[in-house]
Amino acid sequence: MNEILTEPLISLGYVGSTLDRIAEQRGNTALIMKAMAHADARIHALAGDVILLKKRGEKLDALLSPAEARSLGDPIESVLIGLKGEAAHTGISVSPETAERAKAGGEFAAIDLRSVAVQGLANEHLPSLATAKALLMWHAQHGFCAKCGAKTKIEQAGWRRDCGNCGATHFPRTDPCVIMLAIDNDRCLLGRSPRFLPNMWSCLAGFVEPGESFEEAVRRETFEESGLKIGRVSYFASQPWPFPMSVMIGFHAEAKTTELNIDWKELEGARWFARDEVKLMLAGKHPDGLFVPPPIAIAHHIIRAFAEKGSRVLD
Ligand SMILES: [Zn+2]
Repeated sequence: MNEILTEPLISLGYVGSTLDRIAEQRGNTALIMKAMAHADARIHALAGDVILLKKRGEKLDALLSPAEARSLGDPIESVLIGLKGEAAHTGISVSPETAERAKAGGEFAAIDLRSVAVQGLANEHLPSLATAKALLMWHAQHGFCAKCGAKTKIEQAGWRRDCGNCGATHFPRTDPCVIMLAIDNDRCLLGRSPRFLPNMWSCLAGFVEPGESFEEAVRRETFEESGLKIGRVSYFASQPWPFPMSVMIGFHAEAKTTELNIDWKELEGARWFARDEVKLMLAGKHPDGLFVPPPIAIAHHIIRAFAEKGSRVLD
């Protein structure tokens, strides 16, 4: 692993789960029932993007006890995230109305996952929240068989849906998305999506298409959005990104051309930034208040690596 990854990536969000996924044991109902009945069993409750956090004095806790989860009523769906020792950590989905009612009752806070992450409310639980969020979202959208249209049934502790009509099995998906920083010697290309906070600039990104390698997706997306031709592509790191269910694959990319032809449908701005300017943005000292995404996002680390190593990140 690139040595630059070791320290900064501690702060990267949604990675580093300490739970055992027990992928081989998900059909072992007896083991899972026992783990769910364990005294240390805990639950994440989600209503779409919104996490229910239990108020414990001044603190907000993303992990609910089984009794606290039961107080919310019957869940829509329940999935096994993994085991901590012998105790199950599960994710349950509840309706937006249930979340509103829980919040109004005063015992819970209801906060969306992005805000939970940005505010650092549940850092150690972000990986399992990301898993629960992506998995529950997939269930919410895949109640019917894509092959024959019949209702499907949850299996494998939430990691498969089976169709009783045609026998098809459906597995939860994650959508690969490349995120890249184009580099021309001592400067890099940053862009602005209209969705960004004012003054925030970041890497370009886009979904990988069927029949395309990651490297090809980096070259295609960079060209489509900025007009730049890309030569070498160097892998950096990856990050699950549960909005709604992606995995970001991060790269540095060598610009072979420098003239920009911006896709104004995707971006509201893109320009070259000198390495010194990027350093000011990372330090929060840019004279115009420009900044890059926070350390929770892989874009931050891709940009930081360039700021620290320059075009050597491409080697
Ligand atoms: Zn079917």
